[in-house]
Amino acid sequence: MSRSKRTEIRTETREMWIVHRAPLETAAADCGECPEPSPLISMTEACSLTGITSEIVCALMATGAIHFSVASDGQLLICTRTLCRSQNEMSKLVG
Ligand SMILES: [Zn+2]
Repeated sequence: MSRSKRTEIRTETREMWIVHRAPLETAAADCGECPEPSPLISMTEACSLTGITSEIVCALMATGAIHFSVASDGQLLICTRTLCRSQNEMSKLVG
């Protein structure tokens, strides 16, 4: 009686982006809704960082999936924490 022994090696890769940026000239605000500090970024930055279109970001903001704030100058600011979370969830759906 022969017994074969099989060794399986699994590797798991996770991708994590850590974005370091120079401090903004204006004081960078944190999201007021997140329990932990989460910097707010502009819509342009949000789209270029994630590859998500502004239409989808707006739709996610409307559902509450992405936090946002409006600066005193009227600029829309997006919460990076919920933005990244939404991006992760979208990438799961896409495959
Ligand atoms: Zn937030």
